[in-house]
Amino acid sequence: MNVIEAPSPNWDARTAPPDTLILHYTGMPTGQEAIDWLRNPESKVSSHYVVEEDGRVFRLVPEERRAWHAGVSFWKGQRALNGTSIGIEIVNPGHEWGYRPFPEAQIASVIALVADIRTRWTIDDGRIVGHSDVAPDRKDDPGELFPWKRLAEAGHGLWAEAPAAPGAPIGEGGNGRRGLRLPGRPHPARLCLPAVRPVRRPDGDGRARLPAPLAAGDGRRHRRRRDPRAADRAPPARRLMHPARLFHVEDAGRLVAQLGAQPFVTICAAPDGRPRVAHAPAVVRRLDGGLAVDFHLSRGNALSPFLATGFRAVAVSLGPEAYVSPDWYESPDQVPTWNYVSVEAEGPVAILDEAGLIAQVDALSAQEEARLLPKRPWTRAKMSPGVFEKMVRGIVGARLTVERLEGISKLSQNKAEADRLGVIAALGDHPVARLMENGPE
Ligand SMILES: [Zn+2]
Repeated sequence: MNVIEAPSPNWDARTAPPDTLILHYTGMPTGQEAIDWLRNPESKVSSHYVVEEDGRVFRLVPEERRAWHAGVSFWKGQRALNGTSIGIEIVNPGHEWGYRPFPEAQIASVIALVADIRTRWTIDDGRIVGHSDVAPDRKDDPGELFPWKRLAEAGHGLWAEAPAAPGAPIGEGGNGRRGLRLPGRPHPARLCLPAVRPVRRPDGDGRARLPAPLAAGDGRRHRRRRDPRAADRAPPARRLMHPARLFHVEDAGRLVAQLGAQPFVTICAAPDGRPRVAHAPAVVRRLDGGLAVDFHLSRGNALSPFLATGFRAVAVSLGPEAYVSPDWYESPDQVPTWNYVSVEAEGPVAILDEAGLIAQVDALSAQEEARLLPKRPWTRAKMSPGVFEKMVRGIVGARLTVERLEGISKLSQNKAEADRLGVIAALGDHPVARLMENGPE
């Protein structure tokens, strides 16, 4: 078949011959941007092939080498499937940029490419899978529009027909974390969709079992690839956090969620020229068109006297962080580092009036008590009359109106996959390991 060579530097040596085919969508606005990204040494991602919507097939990494497309993954007893798989990226903007049907020319090329690859390697039908099959908690590609049935009719992969009953059983997650639903609550990543496809058990014999609703996304939980255009739009001078663009978080929704998850912020300001710091639990509020971080301080705090006149401050929310030992990498000649996530919100700070202060402390206790459900939430109604009013006189409320919101997610994205997997394994149950598994890639 006619293949266009477009070599990527992002590969390393295989440990075994390939026996698995993993299909992806590119999830970027255009095919060219995806190809550029997969060939960019900074991205640390690649695939063996990219199939364009017009049917052109590009080879980025020779099949004999390991490309970096699957990430943390599991299928039928194997982990880290890059070592034993061939990755095909199928151009489609994906759920983030306008998911659309795969054109006929593209599907014909995918089928021809799969057939071609199978003449060279032994790849069972049960080992022709989607990225969402091998990393179901974090990946939705190639998604519900991919015609698995056509592929199976052409003799490749598995397919089984079944009615798409609402609430049908949810498939097991391929990475060992089961995609089970809690009673009465749909799994957030696995809403029932009309399309069906076979559920293939990673520990089974690979034959199609009970069909189930597609294990693909609901359009909200999608892969988060950096938008190259967004990065270019942002003026460099505006950035004050980590110098490496690779670690920046662009998605404002994600930053707000991170702030909400770690609301105990450090307020840094130099209202009279001398730097001062306060630690305070905050409530993030969406005001019309903007964002505010509401907090309160003890009246005795070093920053409190300056609230009356106002000042400019940065509120820092530090998420999970962990030391990373060079011994955990596979590659030699590395240095120690720290992995972490962090959000900064900067803007003018003004004092809240009494009603604003009371609204802040009420919202704060409601926010935190909600995390303790099913415990019955504490409210100040439980207090004796007059006590709350007396206590509230000892604190002062403040609002930081956000003018700059930036985030850093430094999770070894700059490292080779084998090195990342080594860090994840060494960190074990540490929250940073979970973020590394689910984070950008
Ligand atoms: Zn993928």
